[in-house]
Amino acid sequence: MEVVPTKTHIALLASPGIGHLIPVLELGRRFAVQHHFLVTIFVVTTDASAAQSQLPHYSSYRDLLNIVFLPPVDVSDLATGSMAILSQLVLLMRRAMPHIRAEIAKLKPCPSALIVDLFGTEAFEIANDFSMLKYMFHTTNAWFLALTLYYPHHNETDKHDHVYLHKPLNIPGCTPLEYEGTFDLDTRPDDRVLHEDYAKMGLDMAKVDGILVNTWEGLEPRTLKALRDPNLMGRFSSVPVHPVGPLIRPVQPVENLVCRSKVLDWLDSQPAGSVLYVSFGSGGTLSANQLTELAWGLELSGQRFVWVVRPPVESTAFGSYFRQKERTEDGTPDYLPDGFVSRTREVGLVVEMWAPQTEVLAHESVGAFLSHCGWNSTLESVVNGVPMICWPLYAEQGMNAAMLSGHLGIATRLKEVGPGTVVGREEIEKMIRRLMEKDEEPGKLVRANVLELERQAEAALAKGGSSHGSLERVAKECKTGLT
Ligand code: UDP
Repeated sequence: MEVVPTKTHIALLASPGIGHLIPVLELGRRFAVQHHFLVTIFVVTTDASAAQSQLPHYSSYRDLLNIVFLPPVDVSDLATGSMAILSQLVLLMRRAMPHIRAEIAKLKPCPSALIVDLFGTEAFEIANDFSMLKYMFHTTNAWFLALTLYYPHHNETDKHDHVYLHKPLNIPGCTPLEYEGTFDLDTRPDDRVLHEDYAKMGLDMAKVDGILVNTWEGLEPRTLKALRDPNLMGRFSSVPVHPVGPLIRPVQPVENLVCRSKVLDWLDSQPAGSVLYVSFGSGGTLSANQLTELAWGLELSGQRFVWVVRPPVESTAFGSYFRQKERTEDGTPDYLPDGFVSRTREVGLVVEMWAPQTEVLAHESVGAFLSHCGWNSTLESVVNGVPMICWPLYAEQGMNAAMLSGHLGIATRLKEVGPGTVVGREEIEKMIRRLMEKDEEPGKLVRANVLELERQAEAALAKGGSSHGSLERVAKECKTGLT
């Protein structure tokens, strides 16, 4: 009788937020498709149905993966307004730990490995109890990973007692961190909880069996070298680093897309490379004044655009809350300048709240992306050869923007963007023209650079490529399990 080998079973844990869930699902899909693993994904959320409805392609993952939405975490007792987003996420994950433990205990066979993203490091204790291998999946880039690993040690190294984050910060062997906002670390110097939470993550990560990173060897060679060098970042962690990216969700077939008719149909009727796509991630919002300036900047530039727009509200780790909106006769939401929709109807499309982003960026009419530089958005832009205008808002987006507009040279950057500042319409207009108008020098250069990166990304993921090989190595370890 033929013996059917038992499939290797692994578990992944996704922190709250679509930006965390998307790369975790995609990593799970690669293990299932390329390595025929059984894959269970635990999703921590405060609202499972909202998370599912934001994933128009959710069903394509559900057929391949065992996706377990954990009971929603109750956060009603938290004073979220005064907490840093990072600390909110840490607390939320802490509250989910008993559910994760209970669910892992039910799984048959017990997974050989637990892979968590940045905020899930407290689950390693559970992995130890179940004799599972422990992996971190760093859903962003290697530079931010280096900062996280270095952060608990930077005071010893730089001899600055009680200084949380002084700039420039010389992360050994990496590009120094100069002015980028990082998780509010610099803007909340007295927030002890935030600084302790972040330092603990760095220390916990240094004890795992491997760190998977959503980057590839050719994108960040210097940082990856430093992370592996025992005289540089390797002093703080000797954990193997596996660049497995870019992991982004694939473009969906037309029939899976609810929004097809609106955005993609409109793009179908535009000339190739002519449209600026404007979006600030899954929950990013701008102030009321900034929305007005951006609307004017777009209009004055005369360029074609698709703008995914949200009302001006605070966004939190638990979602964004919007006030009831009114609209004027031409369909302009009340938070945009009067008559904006009718004046720009010939060249622009305003989409409220959500667009099928990977499909939009893959569309040949899209010529550039004005983005908050979330790492998923960044990778989605790169793999489609779309240059960017950086407008970082929070988390590690300032670092991403510095990298994209700095040595990678695939983006231009609005320099005045920052907490409490409002970028004026003329600056926005100028930046859009510089990138979109075909004979403008900065536009030509960034377009050439991003096409080269697109080619590199494809090669890294292909069979024989560096990211493909990294995933194979991790899969092999998961098959063998703890010895
Ligand atoms: N996204 C989307 N449609 C939208 C806004 C966002 O599909 O209208 C997706 C986007 O493609 C990306 C993710 O949501 O995969 C956002 O992740 P990112 O890391 O860019 O930013 P975050 O939302 O975490 O700030």
